[in-house]
Amino acid sequence: MTELRELYQEVILDHNKNPRNFKRLEPHSHHAYGNNPLCGDKLELFLNVVDGKIEDITFVGSGCAISTSSASLMTQFLKGKSVAEAKQTFHYFHELVTGKNLGEGEIEELGKLALFEGVKEFPARVKCASLSWHTLLNALEDTNQIAQTEA
Ligand code: ZN
Repeated sequence: MTELRELYQEVILDHNKNPRNFKRLEPHSHHAYGNNPLCGDKLELFLNVVDGKIEDITFVGSGCAISTSSASLMTQFLKGKSVAEAKQTFHYFHELVTGKNLGEGEIEELGKLALFEGVKEFPARVKCASLSWHTLLNALEDTNQIAQTEA
């Protein structure tokens, strides 16, 4: 348990200090804003989805270490995955941070994301950890793809 806690802190500090995929993505097929007023976390998520696959995913914004590192790990995890896989992962992640029991196989599928299990003991932190995931769902559901005119 101590080891897991240390790893958790190490990963969060690392991704907070040096967030991955931290940039705007232009052009993009999907985009959404995320806002967690409880903590002051704000982020903007960008995706390029081609044939149901997340070719690229980036974010910008400012927030606490948990929200930033969670968004960073999420983008790293989802790059190259299908939209269906992304939604499934959201489901597992949400169960994890809200303290539902997941099977070993489900936890395994979450990989490094499973490190956020610890936030379930801190309800206010659950919102920080899941902000990027809620933003992802909004982005996937509300496409703002620029209409292409036929040549
Ligand atoms: Zn926060």
